Amino acid sequence: MHRIVVIGRGLIGSAAARHLAEHQDGIACIGPDEPDDQDMHTGVFASHYDEGRMTRYVDPTPEWSITAGHSIRRYRDLEDRSGITFYAPVGYLGLGVPESDYNARCAETGKANGAEIEHLDAAAIRARYPYLSVTDDVDGLVETGGAGFISPRRMVQAQTHLAEKAGATCIRQAARAVRTVPKGVEVELWDGSVVQAEKALIATGAFTAACGLSPKDLGLTVFGRTTVLVRIEGEASQTLSDMPTMIDTKVGAYILPPIRYPDGHSYLKIGVGRPTDPRFTSLNELQSWFKGDGADVDRQEFTARLKELFPILNHCHVWLTDTCAVTQTRSDLPIIDFAQDDRIAVAVGGCGKGAKGSDEWGRIAADLISGNPWSTKVSREKLALPV
Ligand SMILES: Cc1cc2nc3c(=O)[nH]c(=O)nc-3n(C[C@H](O)[C@H](O)[C@H](O)COP(=O)(O)OP(=O)(O)OC[C@H]3O[C@@H](n4cnc5c(N)ncnc54)[C@H](O)[C@@H]3O)c2cc1C
Repeated sequence: MHRIVVIGRGLIGSAAARHLAEHQDGIACIGPDEPDDQDMHTGVFASHYDEGRMTRYVDPTPEWSITAGHSIRRYRDLEDRSGITFYAPVGYLGLGVPESDYNARCAETGKANGAEIEHLDAAAIRARYPYLSVTDDVDGLVETGGAGFISPRRMVQAQTHLAEKAGATCIRQAARAVRTVPKGVEVELWDGSVVQAEKALIATGAFTAACGLSPKDLGLTVFGRTTVLVRIEGEASQTLSDMPTMIDTKVGAYILPPIRYPDGHSYLKIGVGRPTDPRFTSLNELQSWFKGDGADVDRQEFTARLKELFPILNHCHVWLTDTCAVTQTRSDLPIIDFAQDDRIAVAVGGCGKGAKGSDEWGRIAADLISGNPWSTKVSREKLALPV
């Protein structure tokens, strides 16, 4: 019988498992590895099957900035101790437009949390990033120091490795059900076997509701997101070699600089989250979405915006799409709370930006399920289950 079992081994679950295992015995984490062949896969997927997630202190919402800051400060230690690198502090540039207060709100929370920031006007943006085509009314917010990107895939590997090194048992398959029993909880796995523990923490991201794992309704909305990736070759490789991560407030896009993918090529990536994106409730719908090519309208619009902002990309000829899912909560913050007495808790709801602070969200969840005192400036009420 385990003391605590973490269900879901993504960014938040693997972080929680590591924090738990480094402080106590009897920890298990349940969750499959990334499938080798997505087209043939019949199980669950995840929102971290990628090589680039933006990370930065600046965020319009203080809670996201606080948790990102704590996590960023631990990345190097995680890399050193696991031997798995996942962090590239290449910086951040927010492109603002007059009708948006995004940069101003980001600057405020960033400053409060110790970010190294700088404001640029359009002329300074052109001088520093000559490959960008911006209009005169655009302003820039630059973050150096900790901002950049992480490989979410490799970060999960690092967290899992450290959790196992600290003594956690890793059960590499999906859970079908979790329920309380007189002596604690039991988790039924997809192969029919049962894992017993005193307590369970559910961190299954976009699949939480579709798999029916939480004993309480969490009010989640799961959106399908499409991303466009352009292969960076020839002259563009040199031109974009020092590109930072970016937010383009004109269209609400995030843009990752050229990053090497497992196929050996480097891709620059863009994505936009919109309320009109498709919503999913069932496992079948999610599986089809992850196996598909995404929305064609997004492909066209994102491609056009990239070519407008980076004229050099008109010379790049390999353009791809990918799909992912965002787990949106009503509060726009993760839910980290008990869902059934003090035995089953949840840590879900990355809201499209849960990667950067995932180590801290995992730590908060680990403290909660362990029965430790609340130990973050983020208020407990803000992370509570919806009423
Ligand atoms: C296109 C896109 C771009 C993004 N960009 C950024 C960004 O730039 N910066 C940022 O900070 N965030 C970003 N995010 C958000 C970030 O990726 C998520 O918030 C983060 O992955 C959430 O972590 P998680 O642990 O909740 O979910 P996941 O990372 O998806 O992990 C959930 C885990 O649960 C497992 N699981 C599911 N069902 C079961 C089951 N039944 N039994 C056992 N295990 C199960 C899955 O296998 C998976 O490993 C982006 C998201 C998307 C979709």
